[in-house]
Amino acid sequence: MAGQILDDARSQGDDRLAAQCDTDIAWYCFQIGKAELGLTHVRRAVDFWKSTGELTQEAHARAYFGWLLLELGLPEEAIEEATRALDLADRTGDRKAQSLATNVIGIIFWYNKQPDRAILMSERSVELARSIGDRTYECWWLINLGGAHSEGGYIAQALGQQEEGHRMLIRALDLTEQALDIAIQTGDSWAARICLGNQADYYGHLGEHDKALQCMLRYQQFQQNSYVRDRQQYLYTLGQVYNNYGKFEEALSLLLEAVELIDEGGSFDSYIQIYLYLSHAHEGLGQFDLALEAHKKYHQAYLQNSAERTQQRPRLAEIYYETKRLKEVAETEAKRADTLEASYQKLQEQTDILASAVYLDALTGLYNRKYLDSRFKELTSEKRPYSVAMLDVDHFKAINDNFSHMIGDQVLSAIGTILRNQLRATDQAIRFGGEEFVILLTGTPRAAADVCERLRSAVEHWDWSTICNGLRVTISIGVAGSLSANSPKEILEIADQKLYTAKKSGRNRVVS
Ligand code: GH3
Ligand code: MG
Ligand code: MG
Repeated sequence: MAGQILDDARSQGDDRLAAQCDTDIAWYCFQIGKAELGLTHVRRAVDFWKSTGELTQEAHARAYFGWLLLELGLPEEAIEEATRALDLADRTGDRKAQSLATNVIGIIFWYNKQPDRAILMSERSVELARSIGDRTYECWWLINLGGAHSEGGYIAQALGQQEEGHRMLIRALDLTEQALDIAIQTGDSWAARICLGNQADYYGHLGEHDKALQCMLRYQQFQQNSYVRDRQQYLYTLGQVYNNYGKFEEALSLLLEAVELIDEGGSFDSYIQIYLYLSHAHEGLGQFDLALEAHKKYHQAYLQNSAERTQQRPRLAEIYYETKRLKEVAETEAKRADTLEASYQKLQEQTDILASAVYLDALTGLYNRKYLDSRFKELTSEKRPYSVAMLDVDHFKAINDNFSHMIGDQVLSAIGTILRNQLRATDQAIRFGGEEFVILLTGTPRAAADVCERLRSAVEHWDWSTICNGLRVTISIGVAGSLSANSPKEILEIADQKLYTAKKSGRNRVVS
């Protein structure tokens, strides 16, 4: 119907109506799992509202734009759009637009495995929806708030914090139940299906497989108009329920059906889930080659979704948003405070702290590459000798494979802590890439190698069982001095060659 209206609007030259249709159609495309088609519509709407200067409309369109990008596995671009949407919505003070944009930012944090941030944002979006009495938004944002809690629960479970994991998953179930009530009242069967699928997932993680199955049976009552997106969710969620029961044949046939739907659409996140569960089903049936093949697809997609590229931009979005929140707080404070001066100074201090965080890596708390580039410029102009160490975690891929990616992330975070604790005040550690670090040290490579040897030993003897039983971690390091090279690039190359030698000669060692 929207397509029909769109055609009519276009033929009558009614551009405003056409742009409204484009935004609506984009959202319907999201629901039926045709994110790519949705993009072409919403992009047109964004351009139109931008040209007319209607900020609220532009905010809405941009928020949907961001959400669709996230669905397609493009988190960086999604953040860009979502933060712009929020900025526009804040400028007009339109609470509906604010609610939508805040929700999208919440989901980005959720997908990026930062549940605390996600919960904060989603809570705010629910509050905003309630304040304007928008039941539909309230329902959808509650689903996402539940999702953010479940992510917190899964992370806690993976880290062995069973009680916390349980508590978060119960909260997720409760929030989703609230959403389900609204969905039933408003006749939103799409939302109802998502609620029940999510609840089945949460029950599965709590080990309550009967309850999970009940949710999936209830799901069928709402299935009259099922589309690719929720059809996929249905298939892989029920597939995993059967996996949990050890009914691998049943699971496999559902999951293979889900695989066939992949070409028709759906989200990047479903893609990841489908292949993970498919590998479980194959494994259960003793089909190890097929299990491995499915697991490789899962692994690749997981990394694509969660590795470095997503780590910096959300941090920026966070800073961006927190800075704005602080500004608001300071503004209200300023009204009350005796002098505007004091409050402004406080804001200035806090903003300075946040600004310096642009140079930090979110996962490890170490400096990031952006910082390395700026330091190299300074060091080159100072002309004092310094050393560069390249550090790489040994067999890190095996840690991911044998434990989990979340444990892998915990290892990286712990290495960040070790480096920060062990380094001299004059030295600096940088997260260079995934599991690679660069350390800038003052003085010659000989002195630097001693420091690096201390780091190597500290990592080897760290009590890794606090993260996971049976976990062992070692690192290899290559060291080079500024006097033996003409440029930072060259020093890095030499350090990298030394690292390669360290790896080849047995790992867990320093080569200078
Ligand atoms: P080597 O001892 O030769 O260094 O072996 P390796 O397995 O450590 O080497 P390789 O470079 O093949 O593997 C590094 C792996 O690190 C690849 C990728 O799966 C993983 N990885 C990269 N970034 C991240 C991250 O942010 N989190 C997690 N969990 N894994 C990551
Ligand atoms: Mg490596
Ligand atoms: Mg490595």
